[in-house]
Amino acid sequence: MSTTLFTNCTLFAEPYGNVIRNAYLLVKGNTIAETGPMADLAFPEDAKVVDASGKLLMPGLINGHNHCAMTLFRGLADDLGLNDWLHGHIFPAEARYANPEMVYWCTRLAAAEMILSGTTCVADAYFFSGSSAQALADCGMRAVIGHGIVDFPVPSVPDPKKNIETVASFIAEWQDRHPLITPAVFAHAPYTCSPATLRKAKDLADRTNVRFFTHLAEGRQEIEMIIDPQGTSPVRHLAALDLLGQNTVCVHSIWLDDQDLDLLEESGTSVVTCPQSNLKLASGIARIEEMRRRNIVVGLGTDGCASNNSLDMFKEMDMLAKIQKVERNDATAMPAQSVLQCATTGNASLLHLPLLGRLQPGCKADLIVLDLATPHLTPFYNPDLLVYAASGADVHTVMIDGRIILENRKILSFDLQETMARIAELTQTIRQAN
Ligand SMILES: [Zn+2]
Repeated sequence: MSTTLFTNCTLFAEPYGNVIRNAYLLVKGNTIAETGPMADLAFPEDAKVVDASGKLLMPGLINGHNHCAMTLFRGLADDLGLNDWLHGHIFPAEARYANPEMVYWCTRLAAAEMILSGTTCVADAYFFSGSSAQALADCGMRAVIGHGIVDFPVPSVPDPKKNIETVASFIAEWQDRHPLITPAVFAHAPYTCSPATLRKAKDLADRTNVRFFTHLAEGRQEIEMIIDPQGTSPVRHLAALDLLGQNTVCVHSIWLDDQDLDLLEESGTSVVTCPQSNLKLASGIARIEEMRRRNIVVGLGTDGCASNNSLDMFKEMDMLAKIQKVERNDATAMPAQSVLQCATTGNASLLHLPLLGRLQPGCKADLIVLDLATPHLTPFYNPDLLVYAASGADVHTVMIDGRIILENRKILSFDLQETMARIAELTQTIRQAN
């Protein structure tokens, strides 16, 4: 079993705000074994020692919602509303360019960007999910991978009648296959999946004990697009189909009334919010502060980088805190602590990965090291600064499952130049066609 010892660091400890200065953290195998002040350290034999003087150790960030392979479409269709962006540009681009090879290499590009900005686990939602799973496993990233389901033909499922069985095959192939990869079901949205498809997708998730994700109430128009006599709101539409519950994660969840919030709260349904994507597509601002006060489990995600256009979770945290404050005209809304929880323990909870998101003995060794010896992070009184001043570029070292995969901002787990070269080829194809 490998042993790694981080010494002389500032430690982001529990409970929130408890910072141990001049601390150590010991990793045995893939698990955090000990943390504490250096004065208490009994040096273990045969440990790889990482001197983290001037640096902060914090939990790896979890990206609660991403479409990793959409890195290829970054900047392809900016400054458009959700409907025009999705139906006029993104769906046609996917129909033309998505294939297993594209998904593999573009997911690796996303992995590089996420690792370099401190994300150690991602909830992906796309098609050709076997390629996504393989890419993230090859890059050494932890991931929950939801295979997409829609009711129209897509490159990965030309016959939509086979959408459920395609996802079932993906789950059977990847369940318990790789320690970093967990399969899931991603029913795209109530306006691209019929009630019968949504119900079958949820049944599959329940039967195979995997998470059920769907985009929900992202745009105001969705309310008119759902053709169901019982569905007076997207949330009530799901409730009428008995799709809410502790196994369900609703992404976006912007256009919600009080009754919808009651339904989410009573059913134990989780929400992932993606504030930058929601702002850029002018979709709206989710009622996250009210969800927080109701103890609805809320996670944070970037969404795909065709609608963001960055996968930096530090930027996302900063935006979530500030947009909730201005929306409610209340500077105490969505404090930094709650934002950090969304990006760590909140996402860990809704992904059913409870050993992630905190630096405690017994938890998985998914952690990041930030360089604090820099003007914009000085002085460092408490972790609130991570939300309001840090960026992905401050990440120095990344460990996932006990393995150091980024050191001094160099990716160790795969050849980034090879990935960049493959992306350049794919990008050239799109440039020539446009
Ligand atoms: Zn999305």
